[in-house]
Amino acid sequence: MFDKRTWIRLPRNVVVGHGVLGETIDAVEELHLAGRPLVVSSPTPHDVAGERVVEQFADQGYDPAEIVIDEASFGAVEKVIEYAESVDAGFLLGVGGGKAIDITKMAADDLGLGFVSVPTAASHDGIVSGRGSVPEGDTRHSVAAEPPLAVVADTTVLAEAPWRLTTAGCADIISNYTAVRDWELAQRLQNVEYSEYAGALARMTAEMLVESAGSVKRGLEESAWIVVKALVSSGVAMSIADSSRPASGAEHLFSHQLDRLVPDAALHGHQVGVGSIITAYLQDGEKGMWRNIRDALAQIGAPTTAEELGIDDETVVEALTTAHEIRDRYTILGNGMSEEAAIEAATVTGVI
Ligand SMILES: [Zn+2]
Repeated sequence: MFDKRTWIRLPRNVVVGHGVLGETIDAVEELHLAGRPLVVSSPTPHDVAGERVVEQFADQGYDPAEIVIDEASFGAVEKVIEYAESVDAGFLLGVGGGKAIDITKMAADDLGLGFVSVPTAASHDGIVSGRGSVPEGDTRHSVAAEPPLAVVADTTVLAEAPWRLTTAGCADIISNYTAVRDWELAQRLQNVEYSEYAGALARMTAEMLVESAGSVKRGLEESAWIVVKALVSSGVAMSIADSSRPASGAEHLFSHQLDRLVPDAALHGHQVGVGSIITAYLQDGEKGMWRNIRDALAQIGAPTTAEELGIDDETVVEALTTAHEIRDRYTILGNGMSEEAAIEAATVTGVI
């Protein structure tokens, strides 16, 4: 009997380009959302974009509410939920580099309200996906919520963001190579559900970014365009799969473990990029893809070593040997690496 079923939730309006922040209200009005908008941002994003979004809604006769949060925490999510209830918000807009967007999507999920993503940095694929997480004690609180109803990505704003945020976004996309390989492996070994469409899209996104790596240069607005479009297609791959699998394998487990061991030491994308070099080595051995991944990261100026991440060698080895414990997700790490193997892999690839 044929009994397969699938649900694909995608953003409805994705608006990317020069000066599109001014079209936020159009992107929102098309969605027929009702009630009072609540704009959630953090201090810098508020100044570079949040304020203008609030003004747009005010000019058009809405009565926008606004909250600025200054830390990524579970407490901040609670604060936004309480505030949204107190002002009777009808929908939420998250304006930020990732932190504010993650918090907004988690609050919107809890409130059962729609949310719109307005990224101010192209730093990771969470700006388009429904997946989000914030630290809670020494663990992380994660949700698999719906993706944003709309994404408004103004390349003028994104190009003004610190360059390292853009290289982090690139590295997050490049890591799709190893994520998809791990997903295929999990299908073969554990019968995990695999989507050919999502796998192909995630891999192609990484390939296209690597091919365009020469145009990803500091100070070029086109760089922001290339990276944010790739983040959108990575997000679409996750939506098709209804899983973060197309964009998250062992390299992400490694990064999550670094977040626990040395919180805020380096950016998410930079950590997964370095993790991806080692993961590719584990997947294919010495002669495999790991050099291509390392060279692509180096070309855009993303870290390729522990030192460039600002993390010591011992911590990298510890993260490698314990990353498999993070979550119930089968990857090339299997039941874990021995310390000797971790040192070997990190040494051969030049990470330590
Ligand atoms: Zn990621």
